[in-house]
Amino acid sequence: MESFDVIVVGGGPAGMMAAGHAAEYGRRVLLLEKNRRLGQKLELTGGGRCNITNAEFDTRRFLSHFGEATQFLFSPFSRFAVQDTFDFFAGRGLPLMVEEERKRAFPQTEKSTDVIDSLEAYLREGDVDIQFGTMVKRLLIEDGAIAGVETNRGPFRAESVVLATGGAAYKETGSTGEAFDWLRAAGHAVAEASPDIVPLRVREPWVKELSGTSLEPMEIVFTAANGERVAKKGKLLFTHFGISGPLILNSAHEVKRLLQQGPVPATIDLFPGLQVNETDRRVLEVFDANKNKLVRNVVKLLAPAGMGSALAALLPEELQEKQVNRATQDDRKTIVQTMKALPLTVTGTMGYDWAVVCDGGVPLTEIDTRTMASRIHPNLFIVGDLLHISRPSGGYSLQLCWTTGWVAGESA
Ligand SMILES: Cc1cc2nc3c(=O)[nH]c(=O)nc-3n(C[C@H](O)[C@H](O)[C@H](O)COP(=O)(O)OP(=O)(O)OC[C@H]3O[C@@H](n4cnc5c(N)ncnc54)[C@H](O)[C@@H]3O)c2cc1C
Repeated sequence: MESFDVIVVGGGPAGMMAAGHAAEYGRRVLLLEKNRRLGQKLELTGGGRCNITNAEFDTRRFLSHFGEATQFLFSPFSRFAVQDTFDFFAGRGLPLMVEEERKRAFPQTEKSTDVIDSLEAYLREGDVDIQFGTMVKRLLIEDGAIAGVETNRGPFRAESVVLATGGAAYKETGSTGEAFDWLRAAGHAVAEASPDIVPLRVREPWVKELSGTSLEPMEIVFTAANGERVAKKGKLLFTHFGISGPLILNSAHEVKRLLQQGPVPATIDLFPGLQVNETDRRVLEVFDANKNKLVRNVVKLLAPAGMGSALAALLPEELQEKQVNRATQDDRKTIVQTMKALPLTVTGTMGYDWAVVCDGGVPLTEIDTRTMASRIHPNLFIVGDLLHISRPSGGYSLQLCWTTGWVAGESA
């Protein structure tokens, strides 16, 4: 049976960083990946541009987005933080650039495949033995200690094992979540995975017709059965099943909580910058200029781009067919009400296959975050999406991979 200093399971961002960095310390490293290539999920990130980190260089402010995990992350971030990510990739010939809005950082080439190539070169320089098509089935535990892993190609032994198999989101990329079972068997209390940064499913069929249309600015208010409300302002994207876009993805965590009480009614304000009376004045102006047309045609002039037909179809049929000069004050009220509170019903999230990130995984209380080692098995290291850390979209997830991978590589 072949034996190594370090086995890294999973060739995603966290695993590649851990393997490459362990090799820099002269460790003999084996990287096991069940796919035929590295970084299959990494390739999809940022729509193929790879939002590699978030350019918030103040660690305290960066970590303020990590909820309960914040306090545990100061230690690993004291070893490898956002500036280190910029330096690491620039040092490997892949300088980063920052988008003003939301401080999202991307490689200047805007290609996720360049990030993968850069990390693959890092592994090759360190003589990391990469074995593709190798599916790890379980951890080898001998006399209570981690001794290696069992795979479809037989067992491999090592002094240390780094688990970087990702969470359970977007399973088609290889992140199928089986490591959660191994970790449970190894004594860890793994929090149940559930889609966290994920689009929302909507009941109303008209949404499908708007697929691809985005609304900005708009305000959406979700209201649970008990009256609890979540309100968000920003950009929304309609899809063939519901609503998505960064604002919605980052609201999903809170909406999921409201969904525990059943379907969640929501309303969209198409003109959040205008009061109801100001919106009415706007309708009146457009009506005055189009007195002889049908309401349904004039509403299209009022609606945000791409929304005209859908908005008109939501009005009572009789009103749609009315000539504008016959429309009453109450008719205008109905139109304003529809534009200021477009009704939707959120019936659920789109689930694992559509989730950018799932929460769940190993709680940080069970990890020594100075090294990313398990507190139960000191030669087992756990990194990346396997950790139970809730965070927003915008480069935060990949930064967690670079940081936890680096620290584990240093310690394994
Ligand atoms: C569509 C999409 C877009 C995203 N965009 C961004 C973004 O722009 N910025 C950002 O910060 N985050 C983004 N994310 C989240 C980010 O991709 C993840 O947080 C990150 O990939 C997690 O890295 P990881 O190394 O922990 O695991 P993964 O990337 O999931 O890699 C795990 C690897 O382990 C392998 N593996 C799993 N099980 C086994 C096994 N039993 N044996 C052998 N190998 C195994 C898998 O095949 C896979 O290659 C996005 C996610 C998705 C789905």
